Amino acid sequence: MSLPIGATIGILGGGQLGRMLAMAAAKLGFKTLVFAPGENLPAAQVSNRHMNAAYDDVLALQAFAGACDVVTLEWENVPVSAVETIEAVGTRVRPGAGALSVAQDRVEEKVFLERCGIDCAPWRAVDTVSDLHDALAEMGPDAILKTRRDGYDGKGQVRLHGDTDALSAWNELAGASAILEGFVPFNMEISVVLARDPIGQVVTYTPPHNTHARGILRHCSVPAPIPETVARDAQRLATKLADALDYVGVLALEMFVMPDGSLLANEFAPRVHNSGHWTPEACETGQFENHIRAVAGWPLGASTLLYAVEMENLIGADAAESAQAMLARGSVTLYGKEEIRPGRKMGHIVRKTG
Ligand code: AMP
Repeated sequence: MSLPIGATIGILGGGQLGRMLAMAAAKLGFKTLVFAPGENLPAAQVSNRHMNAAYDDVLALQAFAGACDVVTLEWENVPVSAVETIEAVGTRVRPGAGALSVAQDRVEEKVFLERCGIDCAPWRAVDTVSDLHDALAEMGPDAILKTRRDGYDGKGQVRLHGDTDALSAWNELAGASAILEGFVPFNMEISVVLARDPIGQVVTYTPPHNTHARGILRHCSVPAPIPETVARDAQRLATKLADALDYVGVLALEMFVMPDGSLLANEFAPRVHNSGHWTPEACETGQFENHIRAVAGWPLGASTLLYAVEMENLIGADAAESAQAMLARGSVTLYGKEEIRPGRKMGHIVRKTG
């Protein structure tokens, strides 16, 4: 079923991803209703309506569901119970609770990826400090301890260089259920952003080369300097994942490219993704528009890359630069956040490079 022009798309979450989704929805003649706690949120500034309520406010969620023709999300930590409340009213949520619950738990995520035939770095579930000692003994000293849930942008992670750090790493994560991953000596980080529609048709974007600083995506360069065969392999694996999840919308799979050209999955995001922020400028159809098209049941647009491009995130004080200086560097997108804080994503700049 495809939505009629003028229908209302609900967005769970109020950040910059929701903002860019709302603008893409408006471009196609849809209305948007944002559900998120807070005031003057980036997405709410550009939407038709905003419901300022908590994700466990069942009555507010039911009212939201009743006012929307379809609901999507821009934040992967939306509680699964909120999605279930909306679905119980009879309003479809795309992507649904299944994909969301897999993505919210790093252990479930690894199990799912491996079941799809997608390799990951070696890992062990860790629930106690003695599990951590055992996992380090098995996997070797070079490792990363990550919380199973609620980690993002490098938060909830501790790098380990040996068993001597184990107790302090465990204490740093405050005893939360965790996963220990072997530290893999990758050549490069890439991602595949794709869109999948309700009848299972998929378009994949060209993989960018992603670089991070302090766990936060800093820069994408497109196309990534990898052989065509590796890029195609990455796109094939991401498509396999989306098919296995019976996914609807945009999904991003982050991967490590190993020195021999093999690929290891790091994690996936059940939403539009920062590493796809160059797609509106540099592709025939951008990730935000394709996400809206997918959740509306409209035909997907081509993902063809029109020219080589780079994307730079404006993080914290980067955004204190003058508008003139930013505009001289490329196509500027700002997220409407009034207060600059360290580590806060304020905007991004896309620049044609080829
Ligand atoms: P994550 O929050 O899992 O995306 O991790 C943030 C960043 O830490 C990644 O983008 C990598 O740069 C690095 N990282 C995470 N896991 C590993 C790993 N198993 N081996 C090497 N580097 C990693």
